[in-house]
Amino acid sequence: MKFNTKVIHGNQQAEPHTGSVNVPVFLTSTFAQKTPGQLRAGYEYSRGGNPTRQALEDALASIENGARGLAFGSGLAAIDCVLKLLNPGDEVIAVDDLYGGTYRMFTRLFSKYELKFTFVNFDDISKISTLLNEKTKLIWIETPSNPLMKLVDIEAVANFTKGKDILLAVDNTFASPYLQQPLDLGADIVMHSATKYLGGHSDVVAGALVTKTPELGEKLHFIQFASGGILGPHDSYLVLRGIKTLALRMQRHSENGIKVAQFLEKHPAVGDVFFPGLESHPQFKLATKQMKAFGGMVSFNFKSGKKEDAIHFLERLQVFTLAESLGGVESLANHPAMMTHASIPEEKRAELGITDDLVRLSVGIEDIEDLLQDLEQALKA
Ligand SMILES: *Cc1c(COP(=O)(O)O)cnc(C)c1O
Repeated sequence: MKFNTKVIHGNQQAEPHTGSVNVPVFLTSTFAQKTPGQLRAGYEYSRGGNPTRQALEDALASIENGARGLAFGSGLAAIDCVLKLLNPGDEVIAVDDLYGGTYRMFTRLFSKYELKFTFVNFDDISKISTLLNEKTKLIWIETPSNPLMKLVDIEAVANFTKGKDILLAVDNTFASPYLQQPLDLGADIVMHSATKYLGGHSDVVAGALVTKTPELGEKLHFIQFASGGILGPHDSYLVLRGIKTLALRMQRHSENGIKVAQFLEKHPAVGDVFFPGLESHPQFKLATKQMKAFGGMVSFNFKSGKKEDAIHFLERLQVFTLAESLGGVESLANHPAMMTHASIPEEKRAELGITDDLVRLSVGIEDIEDLLQDLEQALKA
């Protein structure tokens, strides 16, 4: 099956008892047994497995070309599960331009358990090999990154981990499997904040993991079961429903995204525009190799360099909503330094380029004319 078919049919069947085309929302915590230990359909207690969550997990595995999918109560719960594969003394190498909540979890929670985190710029991949040692057990990358839209060459990193006892995990939230499939490029684990493009309607908080091998899937399922960060049946249904239109939505996000990026690049008040589909992006060549299209995430700063200009722009927007999050059908705008990335220390933000005049847009699927007009009027004064 090709992708547009997979989002609708991949590992998805009609419900066997009634023929219901959609999986029912199995609102149950437990499952009746005939005699102790004899399960009717493999389900025992919904932390370990629930048919609605299972339907989502099977669909996730299909759209990421993986062996096993797992659904969590949030993207961070999914990352938490991966980190629990590690033992005290292990080392993690992570990309430095990371989602703020991931950075916070690594530096403020897991660093307490004798795990060592090294944050590096992956522009020069050959540098990464010099950082690897026998304690390195996990490489964590995000591409495109949040909010500066930097890319990491997944295949090149996978070449360093191949044959070694090092897992490569890719946060694929910004791209979605429509644009990029990290497992095919050599990654071991794909992670999603399903809150974003997979859900697609800003109505659910959810997370996902997909593994390349069944063995790794089984280890992570044990941690999910033993730690408990599962996604409930109703939210599982919402994400599954979102996935059915993922291909259609990503097409429109990508069409609108590039038009917004090109508009901003020409606007006299705008400084830098960060979008992998612009030829001015330093990794444009990698973007065209690694991604099918470029999605709807666009960041930019102001020529003036002034925080007030960014704030006034955000206050004047009418079609774009000023809010955290991304990946929904509606266009959103965000001020990373004061909103999504406020948990990153100020010096660190400055070092990364997350300046006070930086704005991040999640371009939705509305009519492009209305979006451009809104940007134009908000940039005017
Ligand atoms: C939102 C987000 C997360 C965290 O996911 P939640 O669902 O909010 O817990 C992780 N990575 C990226 C890139 C995100 O955008």
